[in-house]
Amino acid sequence: MIPAGAVNAAYLAAAVLFILSLGGLSRRESAARGNLCGIAGMALALAATLLGHDTGPGAVLAAVMLAGGLLGALAAARVRMTAMPQLVAMLHSFVGLAAALVGFATFLNAGDARSAAEQTIFEIEICLGVLIGALTFSGSLAAFGKLQALLSSAPLLLPARHFLNLCMLLACIYFGAVFVGGAPEEKLPALLWVCALALLLGIHMVLAIGGADMPVVISMLNSYSGWAAAATGFMLANDLLIITGALVGSSGAILSYIMCRAMNRRFVSVILGGFGATAGGASGGAKNGDEKHAETITAAETAALLGRASSLVIVPGYGMAVAQAQHPLSELTRRLRELGVNVRFGIHPVAGRMPGHMNVLLAEAKIPYDIVLEMDAINPDLPRTDAVLVIGANDIVNPSALDSEDSPIAGMPVLEVWRARDVIVLKRSMASGYAGVENPLFFRGNTRMLFGDARDAIEEVLRAVDG
Ligand code: NDP
Repeated sequence: MIPAGAVNAAYLAAAVLFILSLGGLSRRESAARGNLCGIAGMALALAATLLGHDTGPGAVLAAVMLAGGLLGALAAARVRMTAMPQLVAMLHSFVGLAAALVGFATFLNAGDARSAAEQTIFEIEICLGVLIGALTFSGSLAAFGKLQALLSSAPLLLPARHFLNLCMLLACIYFGAVFVGGAPEEKLPALLWVCALALLLGIHMVLAIGGADMPVVISMLNSYSGWAAAATGFMLANDLLIITGALVGSSGAILSYIMCRAMNRRFVSVILGGFGATAGGASGGAKNGDEKHAETITAAETAALLGRASSLVIVPGYGMAVAQAQHPLSELTRRLRELGVNVRFGIHPVAGRMPGHMNVLLAEAKIPYDIVLEMDAINPDLPRTDAVLVIGANDIVNPSALDSEDSPIAGMPVLEVWRARDVIVLKRSMASGYAGVENPLFFRGNTRMLFGDARDAIEEVLRAVDG
């Protein structure tokens, strides 16, 4: 085994690498370097842990690491970009499960004698580890179910649900107090109660949150998984795990704040749930739906319209990711720019199914960063824009968010594409988006629908532009 001083030095270096990694990942240009720093930090942390601690029988450890590494590599290689949020939710659940299991293992192998104060702190750590771990585990599984469409994205609204949550929380505190202050024979049952109640609370809290608020849930569970890892660090007396957990926990909390601001929601109201079930229901803004008529446009007409425009804003959404349309789109952008069209992209903070989803896809297709603008930067320019091409986006361009108080997405800032001269919406049908809300944009006088799979349709438009 290497000396403790060397392990601590390696942990410190790993912590610095993790901070550099987070810094790098915050900008597209430095994201690859940030990723490398993260990999190096994790490799260093693993090596120091393996060489500096008694980690039990080598064969068991090797088998577990091999199996975990293989599963991780397979999942990463096979997962489609569109299924990434589910994978992330599943990975968060593993962190929660690990924290809860470490809590029980630490309790069952309590070992050395401690002073009364040390024992109390030790038991509080265990109780918090199990509580946060179990909550993160079940909440992440529920989020996985919703994102994978195994569970309905509509909020589950049990009668007196806030009272139910409060009762579960108070019961957790009661059993936590029994665990810390009670007689030895009461401790294990009390800890099991804390675990069971936290599992229920995690599921119930996530199920009560409507589809449109899922971005906040993902970032919130990200934060919880960090705190669960930090709690594990306290139980195992591992400084690096505490630092890493705190980094993940606080960056997840900042991301939740950014997501809430982007959606004009208060964090507490998202957590309490219930959005997506307002009077307007799933069809908010759908009044007189039968009388409405949507104009259509062909790929050739689209090509002509785009070629004539002097300014064009492209708004990508989840459908672009599903169809993997970013590569032909990159080519179309290049061609239109050659023809003198001022092409720019408008990115909504919750477009797609995970934070930064669109930016990643556009960067992958080598679309220049300087023409990719955030919603707040592009919105003021839209009234002066000739044409907007919406590709597989729906909720993020829905005017009912601004003008219908009944809408489940009421108050969410959106890309105000209808203010442009012409709007073309490319999607396969009139179906609604993730929030299940009908979109009055499709029926506006300056909107035309280009129906088809995003990739096929863009390729057709590209051929018409070239032809
Ligand atoms: P939406 O889910 O609102 O709409 C996507 C649209 O894409 C659908 O209406 C669908 O219509 C169309 N589509 C699907 N497949 C294709 C295809 N192959 N070709 C063309 N069109 C296709 O996506 P947005 O990006 O507009 O909004 C994101 C939504 O997801 C928001 O409600 C957000 O809150 C939520 N969300 C976001 C997360 C995040 O972190 N970014 C995480 C979780 C949820 P059709 O079937 O007719 O083709």
